[in-house]
Amino acid sequence: MPLPDELRGQAPIAAESRADSLHELRDALRRFAVEREWERFHSPKNLASALIVEAAELLEPFQWLGEHESRQLQDDKLRHVGEELADVLLYLIRLADVLGIDLRAAALQKIEANARKYPVQHARGNARRPPER
Ligand SMILES: [Mg+2]
Repeated sequence: MPLPDELRGQAPIAAESRADSLHELRDALRRFAVEREWERFHSPKNLASALIVEAAELLEPFQWLGEHESRQLQDDKLRHVGEELADVLLYLIRLADVLGIDLRAAALQKIEANARKYPVQHARGNARRPPER
């Protein structure tokens, strides 16, 4: 079964993104937990553990593939990757929520920190880590 169009391809980097999309997911996850009375199970430790389990599951469809093959995933394998990415994202959002971390702000700060750590003029086409300062 082919991947639905909305899950396929790369969206362009948007000038204005939906700033509330993480909040929508956060709220949906809160509702999901409350409706099932699962909040008591959602300790930061449990959520961090679940996140790592899902991150490991993300590797499964890539297992034994070469570099080139890993760029050519289609159909069931691509769908599988999408499902595991969703699992990782949802646990990540839930963990940040339980800890009271603004995930969007933290991510933007990290992007800025990485941009300072890897200045374009030194990092372009070069995957080496910079020397520690
Ligand atoms: Mg999974």
